[in-house]
Amino acid sequence: MGMGMSCLVGMVLSHPSCTPTAMTQETHRTVCWYPPSFDVRVEDVAMPRIEHPDDAVVKVTLGGLCGSDLHIYRGHGGIDKVHTCGHEFIGTVHKLGDNYGSNQADIRPSLYKNLKVGDRVVAAFTVSCGECHVCHVGYTCRCPHGLLFGSPFLNGGQAQYVRVPKAGATLFNLENPESILKSLTPDKIKHINDASLLILSDILPTGLFGAVQTLNHPKVKAIWEGKGWPGVFFSDADADPSANAMNEEDKFLTIALVGLGPVGICALVSLLDLIWNLETRSKFRYRIVAVDLLESRRNKAQAVYDRIQHPDKGKNGDVVVLGGDLGELKEKVMEWTGGVGVTAVLEAVGHADALELAFDVVRTFGAITSIGVHGAVPIPFTGRQAYNKNISFDFGRCPVRSMLPRAFEILVKRQDVFGEIGTESSLIDRVVPLNQAPEMYRKFEKGDVGKVLFDPWK
Ligand SMILES: [Zn+2]
Ligand SMILES: [Zn+2]
Repeated sequence: MGMGMSCLVGMVLSHPSCTPTAMTQETHRTVCWYPPSFDVRVEDVAMPRIEHPDDAVVKVTLGGLCGSDLHIYRGHGGIDKVHTCGHEFIGTVHKLGDNYGSNQADIRPSLYKNLKVGDRVVAAFTVSCGECHVCHVGYTCRCPHGLLFGSPFLNGGQAQYVRVPKAGATLFNLENPESILKSLTPDKIKHINDASLLILSDILPTGLFGAVQTLNHPKVKAIWEGKGWPGVFFSDADADPSANAMNEEDKFLTIALVGLGPVGICALVSLLDLIWNLETRSKFRYRIVAVDLLESRRNKAQAVYDRIQHPDKGKNGDVVVLGGDLGELKEKVMEWTGGVGVTAVLEAVGHADALELAFDVVRTFGAITSIGVHGAVPIPFTGRQAYNKNISFDFGRCPVRSMLPRAFEILVKRQDVFGEIGTESSLIDRVVPLNQAPEMYRKFEKGDVGKVLFDPWK
């Protein structure tokens, strides 16, 4: 802790991405993960270089510490290779490969033509090419060229510099926000600070992704639209109208949000924003029960909910924040839904216990969306149990490229939550020098701090 850059330059380092650095070699400061677990170190290693003509090197202004970094930190990733941590970063373009410039073909993503050294950029937490079938469909997080920053395969952004493969489709140019979403004029974003913009890298698009998958699921849509699934699939013009008749009481959308860490907070804000929007299309009541075992996280969720003013959080419903042990939580949710269970669960933890809670509190014909990063532990229910409840599941990583434009809109609108640092209702807890990484990893792992960002130049 607290070692300055000068005393580290010239040390013999074991970081795999570089050979031991000599005094004369250009280095940069990074946070490195060491196996087997609970060991991150601040080290100076060789500067990243352009390795492919599609690459960019970004000078990082802020790098985020994220809940999914903890899976590797705890040694749950099945990884034994030392690497630079962090998959969330914002910065400026430092170097560009040869495939950038005005002479590039129009068919490629526009950044290959327009991106310039010095441009302010934010990166999606996974690389995507933007040019393959998988990317075209919108599943950018599963692009065959995809790589996760801060993994053994690609050094991350808790560093002064980071190499970005396929940067023309992986980066977003903040100099020209209208290229991301037409309504985002430079004027609209000029007052938004880097700490706030950094959450576009992962957690806000991920929270929004969970909210979209939850609310747009046909079984969930059935409730807020008042058109019963699966009959609604067919034209009901000549069907008996009483066959799928929902009354106002039935149009009660209930969602359990499991996990109120930074991603859970982003999911909560996104759910409220989308529900506010859906209320213009259909009349329904809603209730979100937000659960976490940690009191500090529950307090944050309550403060965020209180901060958002009506009607931005919908007119016809509320959020109830619940704690207690898992058994108590199950009982409370079941009691509160009259023994039916909730319409949907959004699980933002990435632990088998959270999934078990989700399974137990979701109604029959319910939908579970899991955006938590799950490990090697088997799913805690059987095929028979799933059959007997007619459950739907959505798992997996957020395609940031597909979600970012709408997430950006929410970021601009919700600067009351996302624009401040270190207040009761702010998502971001603190911005600290990179040297504090080992301490912050320890505290974050214990739930003693909220969302932490590293400034690698302090
Ligand atoms: Zn993240
Ligand atoms: Zn692709």
